[in-house]
Amino acid sequence: MIETITSQDLMKLEEKYGAHNYHPLPVVLSRGEGPYVWDMEGKKYFDFLSAYSAVNQGHCHPKIVQAMVDQSQTLTLTSRAFYNDALGVYEKYITEYFGYDKVLPMNTGAEGVETALKICRKWAYEKKGVPENEAKIIVCENNFHGRTITVISISTDPDARNGFGPYTPGFITIPYNDTDALEKELDDPNVAGFLVEPIQGEAGVFVPDEGYLTKAYEMCKAKNVLFIADEVQTGIARTGKLLACDHENVRPDILILGKALSGGVYPVSAVLADDDIMLTIKPGQHGSTFGGNPVAAKVGIAALEVVKEENLAEKSEYLGKVFREEMRNINSPMIELVRGKGLLNAIVIKPTNGKEAWDVCLEMAENGVLAKPTHGHIIRFAPPLVITEEELREAIGLIKKSILAFAT
Ligand code: PLP
Repeated sequence: MIETITSQDLMKLEEKYGAHNYHPLPVVLSRGEGPYVWDMEGKKYFDFLSAYSAVNQGHCHPKIVQAMVDQSQTLTLTSRAFYNDALGVYEKYITEYFGYDKVLPMNTGAEGVETALKICRKWAYEKKGVPENEAKIIVCENNFHGRTITVISISTDPDARNGFGPYTPGFITIPYNDTDALEKELDDPNVAGFLVEPIQGEAGVFVPDEGYLTKAYEMCKAKNVLFIADEVQTGIARTGKLLACDHENVRPDILILGKALSGGVYPVSAVLADDDIMLTIKPGQHGSTFGGNPVAAKVGIAALEVVKEENLAEKSEYLGKVFREEMRNINSPMIELVRGKGLLNAIVIKPTNGKEAWDVCLEMAENGVLAKPTHGHIIRFAPPLVITEEELREAIGLIKKSILAFAT
């Protein structure tokens, strides 16, 4: 007899054999296309998480998948011990696309952040003249830059940080969206860089005041400090522009990208900078076996082409306005605040009648929309940018219905 495996069985397998480092919603997905995913039982959902904004181009985008399949059948990995016939073409494409001299290819977002921090320190010693081992990098409270030891060393989230010390030294933490605090710390001549998310995604889509990025950038320039933007979540059209920094016409000295750089089919991250900064890194000083592999190179080009061909930034800008307006019109005491830019949005949920954000997410899943709370009381809404206005409006109806099920 052939036994079929159920959702319950699969959840139990993860519970028994996987580390318990996540707390997923109880749905088991087995297929995705565009803005939709399907569970094991064939139920269809709108995906309003997009794998934390990695799937901006939609699930299984045919052009990106084709690029991956074609390259996978030809050459997958050479390591950087040898040249390959895809990397240079990708490097030319991505540097021209974002307007930088050079790219350093990596795989995950956290690796991209680590890479940027290393480049910044190297630049400080070789170019700025900071004494050896004295370089400092300013970071913001409530940041999220990934999960490595150095990255959690700069986190202020107890869950991310506690129990993992000792921590990497050389960082100064200031409040986000606070240029006075930045100005004060920039007085230290050993400050090499300022690492910032243009919008804090994991913190709950916290959008800083207009002008914050410009002012922070100008203050960094005045003190010969590198402005490092982590656009792993906000980049690649998510917030209604190609980069979230583009809203203020700020060009970071070091730009970190990940997630949607592959459209969610493969781990691809990148750090971009000009020669003066990037060429402080010499052979042997940084790298990764998989970074810049031929599959990643082909996937990266295809994913970036899709963003332009399908006008995803413009779509995100327009649909984001529709989404926020509709959410603000919902008459429920549970909705404390709606905020965001483009299609990176969040609703702050006020617990009502014993129900909180997690319950709203379960109800939405029941009604066919997947999203997940961040920090307990905030729900992030970030659908794939290929969603049409009609689909978005349908999903909005389901979200409304779910919220109104608890309190009116
Ligand atoms: N930086 C930001 C702003 C992120 O949002 C994330 C992931 O959510 C990361 C870095 C880490 O990326 P990864 O999970 O690919 O390491």
